[in-house]
Amino acid sequence: MKDISDLIYLDNHATTPCDPAVVDAMIPYLTQQFGNAASRSHAFGWNALDAVELARDQVGSLINATGKEIVWTSGATESNNLAIKGIAKYYERNAGKTGHIITVLTEHKAVLDACKALMRDGWDVTFLEVESDGRIRLDDLKNALREDTVLVSVMYANNEIGVIQPIAEIGEIVANARASKQAPKVVFHCDAVQALGRVPVDVKASKIDMLSISGHKMYGPKGIGALFVRRGRPRIRVEALIDGGGHERGMRSGTLPVHQIVGLGKAAELAKKDIDEGHIEKVRELRDYMWGKLQTELDEIFINGSMEHRLPNNLNISFAYVEGEAIMLAIKEIACSSGSACTSASLEPSYVLRALGVDVELAHTSIRFGLGRFTTRDEVDRAIEIVVSKIRKLREMSPLYEMVKMGIDLKTVQWTAH
Ligand SMILES: *Cc1c(COP(=O)(O)O)cnc(C)c1O
Repeated sequence: MKDISDLIYLDNHATTPCDPAVVDAMIPYLTQQFGNAASRSHAFGWNALDAVELARDQVGSLINATGKEIVWTSGATESNNLAIKGIAKYYERNAGKTGHIITVLTEHKAVLDACKALMRDGWDVTFLEVESDGRIRLDDLKNALREDTVLVSVMYANNEIGVIQPIAEIGEIVANARASKQAPKVVFHCDAVQALGRVPVDVKASKIDMLSISGHKMYGPKGIGALFVRRGRPRIRVEALIDGGGHERGMRSGTLPVHQIVGLGKAAELAKKDIDEGHIEKVRELRDYMWGKLQTELDEIFINGSMEHRLPNNLNISFAYVEGEAIMLAIKEIACSSGSACTSASLEPSYVLRALGVDVELAHTSIRFGLGRFTTRDEVDRAIEIVVSKIRKLREMSPLYEMVKMGIDLKTVQWTAH
């Protein structure tokens, strides 16, 4: 095992540690209280069920929903698949034909790939573009809605750039399209994984019909998630992906992982506290402090995506004239992510940054920092120091940066190949 004791963890969009209070809540359900929540004939089962129902209410409360509207899943990848394929397959079976889905180019792969799977089955999918700030144009959404549109799936906040979409406006547009019969069957699904515990999320105020939740992005355990499915009219009909005992209102069969569910419930309670009691503002202050410091110490650095409509814990920065991979090597005491994704053999710039229109070269110089509940001022100070000194050093070795500093406009340079 590699030593991690000296590493500074600034990758909280990838995953978060379990809060100690979450672990404490879970442990009894691994040991003494190990009952199956579906056992109705003894107290082992009753206690497990009580714990599951409490967790449902805790998760519901975080998003202004009721516990009855929460469906447990193995994580947000499954939640997104269940929402998208579940809506599509129910429609397909009952209407006897495929329909149309609207989503966005910058969605998480779990949304994009679920949509692409449906395209192979004959579904039509519109992938909305985004502005250079990472937000969709509402008119594009209005124009894309059709009579056979059954789903609009737009994430709350992006996992790479932290940009927050105009969710309440989108909810309004979708609800209006349904009421006016422009798109009579349409429902609004939102992947809110990154937003929960960072910004207030209210499914009623934002007219969200379905919403995906993941445990391990909000200080809960890995391998547990939830899908909020609104109850009431018009009824939302979702076809299950997994058949079995008909658990979870028929939408998701399988024995409930009680300890995981208890952990997610506790995590939701703490996430609500972060918002309600303003703890998240401490994270925002640290993030703003880090961005401010980097800007005073370094030139030619750029933030990717809107700073105004952004999660309080995210920075995604392009450090011009240095290679992202070289930066990652140089700052290896900081656990963070680069804007390049190693897809198979090639090193491709992030599709999210490309969708914003970030230049390929610049996209390759991008680093994502994700602060979290346990990030300290001291860690941020150390991270700033490391980033500043290493970027300066890398730029000393960069002929392009030299030229820019000498006042040469790189666009006018005639490069010769050899
Ligand atoms: C991590 C993440 C997911 C996937 O969640 P899992 O619980 O890990 O399957 C989906 N959407 C977004 C935006 C994410 O950040």
